[in-house]
Amino acid sequence: LHGAYDPDNIFARILRGDMPCVKVWEDDDVLAFMDVFPQSEGHVLVVSKTSTARTILEIEPEALSRLMAAVQRTARAVEKALKPEGLSLMQFNGEAGGQTVFHLHFHIVPRWADRPMKG
Ligand code: 5GP
Repeated sequence: LHGAYDPDNIFARILRGDMPCVKVWEDDDVLAFMDVFPQSEGHVLVVSKTSTARTILEIEPEALSRLMAAVQRTARAVEKALKPEGLSLMQFNGEAGGQTVFHLHFHIVPRWADRPMKG
């Protein structure tokens, strides 16, 4: 759960433009792009542009508030574009918590009643 931020993690490289991504939303606070291994149609990752926190434990509450507002803006854009029946938001912390990329981010997973989430 603890450790130093790696400036060469995949999301840091995407933020720097060193790695490509399919961008769906960007504003001052976040970059949102398609997950390469989507768990449903339209699975989007929302990555903080301003914080180098690895996990939700590290970010300052004020910065987290701004980040959550940006997650909501992205979720609204995804809802408008895809008209899903539901939206699952996920956020993982630490290897044992299911985190694989150690730059704070949220998952927005559009959901439909007749389509289970892919593993
Ligand atoms: P975590 O488990 O850390 O919350 O999720 C990391 C997510 O990043 C995974 O869902 C994984 O599919 C996605 N991912 C990993 N590498 C890349 C990449 O290079 N590009 C994109 N767009 N997504 C990635």
